[in-house]
Amino acid sequence: MNWDEFRARGKDAADWAADYHANLRERPVRAQTKPGDILAQLPLSPPDAAQPVDDILADLENTILPGMTHWQHPRFFAYFPANAAPVSVLAEYYVSAIAAQCMLWQTSPAATELETRVCDWMRQAVGLPGGFAGVIQDSASTATLCAVLTMREKALDWAGNAKGLAGQPALRIYCSAEVHTSIDRAIWIAGIGEANLVRIKTHGPTRGMDVDALGATIAADRAAGHLPAGIIACVGGTSAGATDDISAVMDVAEAEGLYTHIDAAWAGSAMICPEFQAHWAGVDRADSVVLNPHKWLGAQFDCTTHFLRDPTTLVKTLAIQPEYLKTHGADGIINYSEWSVPLGRRFRALKLWFLIRAHGLDGLREMIRNHVTWAQALAARLDATADFEIVTQPMLSLFTFRYAPEGAKDIDALNQTLVNRINDDGRIYLTQTRIDGALVIRFQAGAFTCTAQDVDLAYDVICEMAQEMSRAVQRG
Ligand code: PLP
Repeated sequence: MNWDEFRARGKDAADWAADYHANLRERPVRAQTKPGDILAQLPLSPPDAAQPVDDILADLENTILPGMTHWQHPRFFAYFPANAAPVSVLAEYYVSAIAAQCMLWQTSPAATELETRVCDWMRQAVGLPGGFAGVIQDSASTATLCAVLTMREKALDWAGNAKGLAGQPALRIYCSAEVHTSIDRAIWIAGIGEANLVRIKTHGPTRGMDVDALGATIAADRAAGHLPAGIIACVGGTSAGATDDISAVMDVAEAEGLYTHIDAAWAGSAMICPEFQAHWAGVDRADSVVLNPHKWLGAQFDCTTHFLRDPTTLVKTLAIQPEYLKTHGADGIINYSEWSVPLGRRFRALKLWFLIRAHGLDGLREMIRNHVTWAQALAARLDATADFEIVTQPMLSLFTFRYAPEGAKDIDALNQTLVNRINDDGRIYLTQTRIDGALVIRFQAGAFTCTAQDVDLAYDVICEMAQEMSRAVQRG
């Protein structure tokens, strides 16, 4: 394809995208295919001869789309959202057309300077104080890896990169039992070892870290000759929205001189609403904070904002400057590749800029407030419905529940069957998790186009499927 042909095809693609979204409600949310169904339809070897674009597009429609789970479906209530507001999709279209590789300031000054500005807009929007500097990472997992590497290097006085970890004391990093597995991976990749990721027990309805236990564990580790390096706290854990008391964690971190990273990958977007900022009170004292505008806010995946109180520690950990990457004569500029693990960088700032300008913070706040209100209303409705119980109360728009009819024997199995039935039905999409060992159903409202009626339909589908299942059990 050349750019002349692209002109027409690109317009067709825009029409296709608008139609796809207009008709999304008619599609099942989760792909209704079985493992291998799509693979079996794909040729075993690549074509030697060029194929007509019409054929490729027909295969997209007939082979690929039936195997897609529709993340932009208004009734996507599983996992966390990965919202792509239309305006951010448009921005990505421009980004793809320009296709710049924005690793250094001089490889696209506008990309770098827009990233600086838009990160600062986000900083203000979520209520972080001036002085925090932001960078856009590809994912929260990368931001957490950056933070863990910084913890490691700082604790070892930057000897880890130079000499490796052999002969060093065991570095210890602390978190609650509720953190996302991206923390485990960061620990593995940083060479610290899973055994040195110390999980502090949680307590109370917020399922936050027990900070007394945190302090005692750090003291015991020091006494044992280990080297505490940092604390990772979470605001809005994946399973049930677990949230640490950040102020209390910061008291310990400051007393112990430990680097802190706050994982607010999902819940961080809600901090654009001042009334939700109490959930992370104390965050202004943290060293590193991550939140994903590619989850709830609507900036098409991937777009993670990573805020640093002192970016020089991260740069000292990651920067490497062979002659071919030097930017002579451009003193004082930022090369964001020195703030990230990969060298190459997409132009991610554009979609965040388009999004914030086209919707305004007020528009985005309204969406988030609606989701929170509707999820809380659904939790209250389920709570008042016979045979259902709320297991964890809503944290913003996320809660967990169980179907537990009196006399039922294996409640875990019953709930897994219920989730499967709901997802096979296709009108809504939910996932399960485990809370204190029990299998429960997770609900979060967050899709960009979700309405109150969509959440009402979720209630109807959940009750209908539970009743059908009970009837089937009674029939034996
Ligand atoms: N942290 C939390 C709390 C999450 O829920 C997730 C993903 O859902 C992540 C981190 C990882 O995010 P990413 O996919 O951007 O690496």
